Amino acid sequence: MKRSQVVDEDTFDRNTSVTVLSRIVRIALPLPRPLLFDYLVPAGMNPAVGLCARLPFGRGEKTGVVVAVDPPDAPPADKLKPVLELLEDIPPLPSEWLALTAFAARYYQHPLGEVISAALPPGLRRAVKLPRDDDPWLATTPAGRLALGEAKKITRALAAVLAVQSAGARRRSQLLGDLDGDASGAIREARAKGWLEIVARAGEREPIGALTLNTAQQAAVHAVNDAAGSFRPFLLFGVTGSGKTEVYLHQIAHTLAQGRQALMLVPEIGLTPQLMERVASRFPGANLVSLHSGMADGARSLGFVQALKGEADIVLGTRLSVFVPLPRLGLIVVDEEHDASFKQQDGLRYSARDLAVWRANAEKLPIVLGSATPSLETWQHAEAGRYTRLDLPLPAVADKPPSLRRIDTRRVKLDHGLSPGLIEGIRTRLARGEQSLVFLNRRGYAPVIACPQCNWVSACPHCSANMVFHAADRALRCHHCGHEGRVPHICPGCGNQDLHAFGRGTQRLEERLGEHFPEARIERVDRDAVRTPAQWEAVRARIEAREIDILVGTQMLAKGHDFPMLTLVGIVGADAGLYAADFRAPERLFQQLMQVAGRSGRGELPGEVLVQTEFPEHPLYEHLARRDYPGFAKRELAERKMAGFPPWGYHAVLRAEAPELDAAIAWLNTARAVAESLQSPVMLYDVVPMRLVRRARLERAQLVLESDNRPGLQATLAALMPLLYALKCPRELRWHIDVDPGEL
Ligand code: ADP
Ligand code: ZN
Ligand code: ZN
Repeated sequence: MKRSQVVDEDTFDRNTSVTVLSRIVRIALPLPRPLLFDYLVPAGMNPAVGLCARLPFGRGEKTGVVVAVDPPDAPPADKLKPVLELLEDIPPLPSEWLALTAFAARYYQHPLGEVISAALPPGLRRAVKLPRDDDPWLATTPAGRLALGEAKKITRALAAVLAVQSAGARRRSQLLGDLDGDASGAIREARAKGWLEIVARAGEREPIGALTLNTAQQAAVHAVNDAAGSFRPFLLFGVTGSGKTEVYLHQIAHTLAQGRQALMLVPEIGLTPQLMERVASRFPGANLVSLHSGMADGARSLGFVQALKGEADIVLGTRLSVFVPLPRLGLIVVDEEHDASFKQQDGLRYSARDLAVWRANAEKLPIVLGSATPSLETWQHAEAGRYTRLDLPLPAVADKPPSLRRIDTRRVKLDHGLSPGLIEGIRTRLARGEQSLVFLNRRGYAPVIACPQCNWVSACPHCSANMVFHAADRALRCHHCGHEGRVPHICPGCGNQDLHAFGRGTQRLEERLGEHFPEARIERVDRDAVRTPAQWEAVRARIEAREIDILVGTQMLAKGHDFPMLTLVGIVGADAGLYAADFRAPERLFQQLMQVAGRSGRGELPGEVLVQTEFPEHPLYEHLARRDYPGFAKRELAERKMAGFPPWGYHAVLRAEAPELDAAIAWLNTARAVAESLQSPVMLYDVVPMRLVRRARLERAQLVLESDNRPGLQATLAALMPLLYALKCPRELRWHIDVDPGEL
């Protein structure tokens, strides 16, 4: 028998119903199609919207989430399979959470079941039982503090003590997330040695160590505090060191004092132990949950469930944290809101920043987007008055910004990419005992190995890209698919023994600097040399201890705090970003250079930035020299307006990949014809091969859709998607849609 009305847990009268009717749940399952499935609820289970469920599916099992109970249009009960298990010991996901995932599914044109699955931590996704109450609060003992004080070397057990020490007390699950390597082993050892003990939750509720705010900070804090309980988006505009984090901490304190929860999103690389420590030590009594994809599954699930139960006070995490359910949420902060890592590049291609704004609107909260170099989308919102801009000028205590000088590389002879001016600058710093940083955003030794006789190059067999030469292990590595090979001793094309490495990466620069300055202590910082947050911490400690004279590295170096002895920043090979094909390239370049330029001259000593360029008059460098983000944004926005690019236009990209390029193009052309038949005002570009056409043995092509208004684009996509799902698709072809793509 079919029920005629949607009924949920609150309104359903369980006593009378169970005897009369069989109950049905509608489930979102992680499948690549936008379908929902109905199941029968066996007697004894209490269905509710938002519960996770384990279900028979095909020959196996799947886990999904109940999105409706007793839907009116369900098929007869005798046609349905029964639910295997409802995970009733986890509270149902709240309706706001389901609304957020439903919006993400709709907006990014992605199946709801897959959105829900992506939004859940891996443990819940697989419906594994959570360990019960295995999450005590741990505090350091006097013996632990003594051991820490006397230690010559931080062992893994002491690392655990150290992580707890700064926070006063820490939940075990959180500690697991903080530590590298065998974290549970480290905690076990520290407890066996009597250095850590289980305590009741810390009672202290007052934030400690808050700084007295300057006038601009005060104004920013008040503006956001006054907006509590209503949707108000803010742009907190200030360079690194202007006190943004301090402002967030005051706003969070206000939020907690009202008994509400705060969510703070940071970029992938921004979730450093220092930030964790700063937040944890400011709010010793608060339950701080940190979440990032590198955490163990168990710790992630526990953090998620603590948040869901309302036990977490602050959630601090990377983009995936935007999906953490928070029943008492009062404030969202997105730090470095322009950072590209907020956009997911596969599966559900969402922007955590954009979803955060949507969430703040849906849940009636203030949201603070912070940056020194906001995305042009956000900047334009502020210019148009939709977001309130809060400016933090550099406080008077900070020294004046570094001077910026351009070195015209057309007029000087470069030595392996280094100009005499830069070499001289480094030499001066060395003599004065100061530090220099050389920035080159390309890792490896050389981007290609080639044969000058027959023109053989070290091409990746699976991609339309060259394999990069890594000198340390004499390997060739493809940075797109990860394919590795040995450097050949003779040319595979003609047998020539004299192969050349062309161009340069950070390794080669490091080598050349070593030849110039044999007495200097040089350290390279890129993804090959520094793989974990702990390693980055170690490098930073060496910089601060003045154990490093010259740093060479990629954009990894752009983040992070001030090094007072660092007085010279050299920028090498930045020009590529000026005329790149992607329309966002100048914005990214400016953001990176502003950040890396800001590394110098923050202490007592004046800083200098040297930019090696063939285009010294380029306006981007003019704005950079004046540290003039608003001027840069104005000019760039004007160009984007003429071209109809975001934030003046809206894009979606339909991409297809297949072993043969023709197949991908043919499918996209069919899709294009289907889109054309909708006769919508959305503009359809020609189907073209992607710039990196071949990656990991697949040929890729794309179709760009463009509209001057978002609802128009959304309506067209909504109409188009079912037609695309219905299209015949060759077995080895994969396609996806990317709404608001990061690049075109
Ligand atoms: P941002 O997040 O913009 O980089 P921070 O909040 O980290 O800035 O502040 C930079 C430095 O200035 C930190 O060392 C911080 O402790 C200090 N600071 C911030 N605000 C104040 C203040 N009002 N008074 C004194 N020091 C401050
Ligand atoms: Zn050859
Ligand atoms: Zn490759």
